[in-house]
Amino acid sequence: MAHPWHHAVSSARKHGGAPDDYLMIHEWFDASKAHHGDFRHRALRHHTLGVFECEREFGVTLTTSEGRTVPVRWIAEQHVTEDLGFVPSVSQWLSAVEPEPWMMRSRRLSRDVAEAEVRS
Ligand SMILES: [Zn+2]
Repeated sequence: MAHPWHHAVSSARKHGGAPDDYLMIHEWFDASKAHHGDFRHRALRHHTLGVFECEREFGVTLTTSEGRTVPVRWIAEQHVTEDLGFVPSVSQWLSAVEPEPWMMRSRRLSRDVAEAEVRS
């Protein structure tokens, strides 16, 4: 599994500048590893929605230490592609989840909530 630093070195080789110019983006992608220690952490950001969330987080472009403007989406897609070989959709990840009974459970709302709904 590639470390964020190695992704950053790859970004610098591809787009110029220094690895530190890109490190925060790659750390953002892999931050979910703090919550799930194996490859499944990737289900939280390594997909099409994650690429666009990354752009929202870091802006449309970044400026390298050499003054070059690089689209953040290119860096995001590079990260996901280096890890998975392509950029999957969220639906592809969710379709791979094995359904458990608790996921499909539907519970009645408490009486107070149900009455409030009727009044509004
Ligand atoms: Zn990753």
